[in-house]
Amino acid sequence: MDVAIAASDAVAEHAKTKAAQSQHLKFSGSDRFIRELRRRVDAYFEQTGRRRRDCPEMYFKTATILLWFAAAYVLLLFVATSWWTVVPLAVILGVAVAAIGFNIQHDGGHRAYSDRPWVNKVMALTLDLMGGSSYLWDWKHNSIHHTYPNIDGHDDDINVGFLGRLSPQQPRYWFHRAQGIYLWVLYGFLAIKWHFFDDFYNIAVGRIGGHEIPRPKGKDLIIFIAGKLSFFSMAFVIPMLLHPVWAVLTVYALASFVSGVLLSVVFQLAHCVEEAEFPVPVPTPTGGEKMETDWALHQVQTTVDFARRSKFLCWFLGGLNFQVEHHLFSKICHVHYPALAKIVEDTCREFGVRYSAHHSFFSAVRSHYRWLVLMGRPERADSPAA
Ligand SMILES: [Zn+2]
Repeated sequence: MDVAIAASDAVAEHAKTKAAQSQHLKFSGSDRFIRELRRRVDAYFEQTGRRRRDCPEMYFKTATILLWFAAAYVLLLFVATSWWTVVPLAVILGVAVAAIGFNIQHDGGHRAYSDRPWVNKVMALTLDLMGGSSYLWDWKHNSIHHTYPNIDGHDDDINVGFLGRLSPQQPRYWFHRAQGIYLWVLYGFLAIKWHFFDDFYNIAVGRIGGHEIPRPKGKDLIIFIAGKLSFFSMAFVIPMLLHPVWAVLTVYALASFVSGVLLSVVFQLAHCVEEAEFPVPVPTPTGGEKMETDWALHQVQTTVDFARRSKFLCWFLGGLNFQVEHHLFSKICHVHYPALAKIVEDTCREFGVRYSAHHSFFSAVRSHYRWLVLMGRPERADSPAA
């Protein structure tokens, strides 16, 4: 316990130091690469006549996933009575929640769903219904993660506290030797932690990782509170009117565990694998910090695609197996990513930029496992100098 407290204090101290350095980190270098990429992507839309947003297949997909979620919820609430129907339905509900996150909320939150702001807003609000907060997500994901992926102290998505070491810059503890095993289980608690702790904590301290954020006010605050009330009513209050408390809590735990594992693992496969880089800022003459590369190059260096040929994963993951393309063109609807991947890969080759993709989901999973083992391994003080 003492070790855990000491480790947690050290991690908090580490985050605080990084926070002090972190507010205005800039990228440097030429923007030639991203300008050429944008030119080619513009040409693709011109030639094909396709729309960047408001794609019919996206509306169809949204209806399918929401129907899937509603069916699982209604069946659990009114029909299922035996454990052998309740357990599979809870798992199906958890997968539906992840699908809403991957597809509907993520595109809406990125304003990649529609040209109409209100449509994006409505789609983004599905996160509030699932127990998260579209307001905090906009800061955590859009402003912070998408600007600073894999930069320790800036990207809160690679910060899992003292329990895991995801980047080489984070402090190492003896128990990290086993993180290649235990983190997979802890991923399952991500959603539960969100529901009960993270959002409230971030608002209380007005900070996400190293970045200060404004607390929600007015309409944003009303949405935050209404979202939490709707979620807790849907997850606990309404089911408890019809079922025993223990049964409701079991279904909640199971569905949240499934969605937590899926959401965490899919994120990790894009950024926490052997091929992804974890660049560090360099000091500037004025006492600040900057990145040595330009923004677009940084996105490609820190992000890895996987399973690009899997039709099922392309549909289910909402383009999150094409995170290189997503990081470069996050305001384009994900249904276009397979086509954009070809353009991005070719352009990277011409510019001498390394482009990484795992051929399958499982090769990406293995790479994430090896990365966790590597990050948990003690540095060999006795190893011969290279
Ligand atoms: Zn994103």
